[in-house]
Amino acid sequence: MAKNAGSKKSLGNFAKICQNEIDSQRKPIAQVKQYDKISVLPFWYMDCQSQRMRTGQISVQSENIFPIIKKFLYTDQEIFLRELVSNAVDATKKLSTLSRVGEFEDPIDNCKVDISFNEKAKTLTISDSGIGMTEEEVEKYITQLAFSGAREFAEQWKDKDPDQMIGHFGLGFYSAFMVSKTVTIETKSYQKGSDAVHWDCDGATSYNIGKGKRKKRGTDVILHLTDEDAETYLSKWKLRELLRKYCRFLPVPITFDGEDINNTQPIWTKKPAELEAEDYKKFFEELYPAQEAPLFNIHINTDYPFNLTGVLYFPKVNEAIDNRQNRVQLYCNQVFVTEDVKDVLPEYLVLLKGVIDSPDIPLNVSRSSLQSDANVKKITQHISKKVSDKLNELFKADRTDFDGKWEYLDLFVKYGMVADEKFAERTKDICLLKTTDGKLNTIQEWIDHAKINQTDKNGETVVLYSTDVNVQHMNIKAAKDKGYEVVVLNGPLDTHFAGWVEGKFEKVKFRCVDGGPMDQLIEKEVTIESVLSEDQRKTLEDSVKAVVNELAFEIKLESLPPQDDFISVHRNEWERRMEDMAKMGNGFPYGNMGLNKQTMVVNTNHALASKVLGKEGDGRNELLQYCMDLAMLQRGQLQGESLERFVKKAQGFIMD
Ligand code: ADP
Repeated sequence: MAKNAGSKKSLGNFAKICQNEIDSQRKPIAQVKQYDKISVLPFWYMDCQSQRMRTGQISVQSENIFPIIKKFLYTDQEIFLRELVSNAVDATKKLSTLSRVGEFEDPIDNCKVDISFNEKAKTLTISDSGIGMTEEEVEKYITQLAFSGAREFAEQWKDKDPDQMIGHFGLGFYSAFMVSKTVTIETKSYQKGSDAVHWDCDGATSYNIGKGKRKKRGTDVILHLTDEDAETYLSKWKLRELLRKYCRFLPVPITFDGEDINNTQPIWTKKPAELEAEDYKKFFEELYPAQEAPLFNIHINTDYPFNLTGVLYFPKVNEAIDNRQNRVQLYCNQVFVTEDVKDVLPEYLVLLKGVIDSPDIPLNVSRSSLQSDANVKKITQHISKKVSDKLNELFKADRTDFDGKWEYLDLFVKYGMVADEKFAERTKDICLLKTTDGKLNTIQEWIDHAKINQTDKNGETVVLYSTDVNVQHMNIKAAKDKGYEVVVLNGPLDTHFAGWVEGKFEKVKFRCVDGGPMDQLIEKEVTIESVLSEDQRKTLEDSVKAVVNELAFEIKLESLPPQDDFISVHRNEWERRMEDMAKMGNGFPYGNMGLNKQTMVVNTNHALASKVLGKEGDGRNELLQYCMDLAMLQRGQLQGESLERFVKKAQGFIMD
């Protein structure tokens, strides 16, 4: 099962086991015991005098390990079970390897790992029929190496935030002491004529080792839980839940209370050619019971230049960015590591579901350095490429079907595009824009179409968009009256997306349909004369300024077609985008910069302009106020006292 597991140092102890497994397949069997190579400070002083049950002494240096590890692992204490079951699985796999290379001749069928507990005695036992250990091996692997691994871990993390750790690999056997008063090992090596060995340690500074009582090959690790931990863990329900979480896809059968816990051959370990659509569907249901079926899946099966397998599902994401994490599950050689993959995958890929399994993702380094890790980067890029390839494949295979799926893909694709330039390059030809009438076109198709009618006097094609078809209904209507079409960009990332397209496609600009009078959004050569004289314009401007709050609005008098609105309120494109960026929390101090003014456009060619000028004093002010309220009403911004004033006035008109 294991392939090239990459550099040993970065992989943590579990991966070293995998590496052992691989090496043991390649080299003479003596090499299985690879730990000779690792230099460890001899921090155990052993009293080897007694032949039957000896007592060993741990050096003072280790006394401080417990509190440190306990403190830092407190939140993730339950991983002890994963570590111990993984060890049992490894011991079983090692036996298969020995059998395969002819070093072990007895039948090894029905090897499994069994977990049992005794509520009265407050014990939890992890039992395997793997290779077992001789007395020398227990001394070496358990008392020296397991503890030195734990010490290294404690030293590495003692000053760090526990949240900085991912997976906590590297603790191994030692994690048993997180929950135990005493840990006992009863083991018997697979080697002919080996004696059974007993080892126990109360987690303080001494341990006992001597003749054990196990009759058959394999190992029992018996945890004598603390009272508090016994209460937490010694229930059928709790143990089953933990085993399902961490051991669900381990490669050796695991039983608990007579029940099979795991699927030893999850689909990501198989070749895509061996699988049917139904298998992917079933696996999705297994992972996410009672969830809506995904749109499609991607099977990843790579062994060069890194080892990565997995099945990713594209869920139906059609709402605002879904902050729920826990979508993709990360495994290392079928051992569950975490559901929190946001530091391994870029955010847009976190929206996917499914499983990735890689021994090449370093699991015991800080999160901040994860994303800059060369392997993680390559893995991420690989997944991203697989996803964009799949999208292109779907687009080419059946455009109508792809269009039908677009509502779910929209957010994801745009997220990927603005976050990852390479992804953007690969998906720009399948990214669709939807018009207010529901037509779907690729960006290029749309630009080609808009070019015909919506090119301005500077030769730039203006893509008109609506952020809210309801609120901007009148603006959309005004665009349509001019023969223009409007696309809908109402997603949280659309401002970024529009910017990306503008940067990528020459002479294309996006303008929100309510960003200004239509003639100014797409400026043509035609200029319209003002029907007002300079003096009249000035009077009108002063009158408007006398009524309006100049802090909130920038006033502009424009000569527009007489059928356009007399007064209209707009937010110019730049300000809208700044505001959007600030909303997305990109560090834009918008709002404090005094930039959030709207523009009030007064059409000097509208008949109401002359009517206003025909009135004087309060009469003029009242009329102007009413027209401004109308403009605010159109934008859906008329509220509070202004709304009350407007309604009263309108009622007055009805009465007249
Ligand atoms: P790691 O598994 O990361 O190497 P551990 O502390 O979990 O570190 O275990 C140390 C060593 O003890 C293992 O590498 C293995 O050689 C031995 N060991 C632990 N559990 C078992 C077991 N159930 N059967 C046989 N050997 C075991």
